[in-house]
Amino acid sequence: MAVEKPIYLDNMATTEVDPRVLEKMLVAMTSCYGNPSSNSHPYGWDSKEMVDQATCQAADAIGARVEEIIWTSGATEANNLAIYGVAGAYKRRGQHIITCATEHKAVLEPCQQLEKQGFQITYLQPDRGGMISLEQLQQAITSETILVSLMWVNNETGVMQDIPSIAKLTRQKGVLLHVDAAQAIGKIPVDISQIPIDLLSLSAHKIYGPKGVGALFVCRRPRVRLHAQIHGGGQQYGLRGGTLPTQQIVAMAEALTIAQTDLTDECQRIEKLRHHLWQGIAQLPEVYLNGHATERVPHNLNICFRFVDGEALMMALPELAFSSGSACNAMLTETSHVLRAMGYDDLWAASSVRISLGRFTTMAEVDSAIELIVAQVTRLRGISPLWERFCDQEAPAYAI
Ligand SMILES: *Cc1c(COP(=O)(O)O)cnc(C)c1O
Repeated sequence: MAVEKPIYLDNMATTEVDPRVLEKMLVAMTSCYGNPSSNSHPYGWDSKEMVDQATCQAADAIGARVEEIIWTSGATEANNLAIYGVAGAYKRRGQHIITCATEHKAVLEPCQQLEKQGFQITYLQPDRGGMISLEQLQQAITSETILVSLMWVNNETGVMQDIPSIAKLTRQKGVLLHVDAAQAIGKIPVDISQIPIDLLSLSAHKIYGPKGVGALFVCRRPRVRLHAQIHGGGQQYGLRGGTLPTQQIVAMAEALTIAQTDLTDECQRIEKLRHHLWQGIAQLPEVYLNGHATERVPHNLNICFRFVDGEALMMALPELAFSSGSACNAMLTETSHVLRAMGYDDLWAASSVRISLGRFTTMAEVDSAIELIVAQVTRLRGISPLWERFCDQEAPAYAI
């Protein structure tokens, strides 16, 4: 008997490739295998044409200019290029960078590496909702600050920072702003022509495109200088060497266009699904939503089921695919650095899980998920002495 695959509720880890994206990708891959840098024959010319068109399409989708798009292998590389690139180009002006404790590891780790090289890094501490304030940021900026790197939407909690206001502040202070928008694009409106952002990272596989391709937007007006991190054939203005992967670029451009075109409808639909899911789960006692109640995208529920171990809950629910509170550190037993930075303790983080919905999630799947989660949380609590003790302590208080 074939084992049925679990219901996919992990869309913030990655997404399924959209059939419309796949179609374009396959055409590019089969009809256009020349090297876009081969300028002496039609194989190269055709590929270059395809890459140029896709770059134009991608730039249009986010309100950028063609020459502001640098293709990378993903958002990790884009973040590395932004942070090391600025550090290298501006280190004589200052060696202070500001970021936030709840950033993705692809921002935190480059910052930690720079710290070893003598840079000073400020890790802003968010409030319990995961938000950082403008005042907090303003106070952290010094005459030595060259870069502020903040994510738009958090990949664990779905919490959204006020990037438009932050961008106004950093531009006014003459400090560069890098935004990791891997989880923002396709979930909230992103139009760079309206916001003074200097650098912006994107990834295709979070928006129903293939893994292995992303982009860094690098503002030209005013011009941001960057030191290249990958040297090779001088592609992409010398900023990122390596043969341009035609099919990956075509696919990401298509994924971006669809994400922006379908944004409003898709968010409305997903909001309904999440509302239904939360209503269903919140029938249970001692269940809490992590992260700001309203400054969040509709795709995510990061939930603490008190007195239930997140890992145990995942094991008890083989019918569902989602992430535990230690999502990004799957090989380590460390709890989420994001929840801890928000002020939650290890126990709380270990009892928290991330459920993330996407384009292909259906109401029927959400109904099944509710039923399964409620049953398993109830069962696990039923065999927990801590839960029993908690209920015994609570009972007299309510009986007064
Ligand atoms: C997924 C993700 C990344 C890493 O992107 P890759 O394309 O997988 O390298 C970086 N930042 C955020 C916020 C993400 O969600």
